Amino acid sequence: MAVVEEFIPGEGTYEENGKIFSALLGELELDHDEKIAKVVAENPPVTLKVGDNVFCEITDVRNSMAICEVVAVEGEDRTVAGDTNGTIHISKVSSEYTQEVGRELRPSDIIRAKVLQVKPSIQLSTVGPHLGVVRALCKRCRAPLKKKGKGLYCETCDRTEYRKIADDFSDVKF
Ligand SMILES: [Zn+2]
Repeated sequence: MAVVEEFIPGEGTYEENGKIFSALLGELELDHDEKIAKVVAENPPVTLKVGDNVFCEITDVRNSMAICEVVAVEGEDRTVAGDTNGTIHISKVSSEYTQEVGRELRPSDIIRAKVLQVKPSIQLSTVGPHLGVVRALCKRCRAPLKKKGKGLYCETCDRTEYRKIADDFSDVKF
């Protein structure tokens, strides 16, 4: 990138044997006045905020909550910074009374959820027509389920499953 006689290693760089190397993927910026070489990250990770809509994969379902991994913030192609382990409490699954979390959300489902809290733990909600499952696989054969009436249908198994689905189920790209 540069040599230390010419530039001072700045942000995003490191020095080795008198040479300056880039420590991350990004764009090189040479400050010729201050003689500082730095690298500005191309795609800095995005930090979750309360009110964000996020896509998550359900990893576990318990009696009172679903556990998920936040995989993306809607509208952002950057990775999510820091803790990505979220929970959806049974009272935040649907506007209707939820008797069993596992009837609405299942492991490996992809959901769109709203961030209610970031710290000390990520709390999410799927209450609202645009929130809920956007992709789901058949429990038996793992084929993608299709929306049919109020349920989700597997053509291979000729079975219907139920979920708390989002209004744009299966049209979602992220
Ligand atoms: Zn199936």
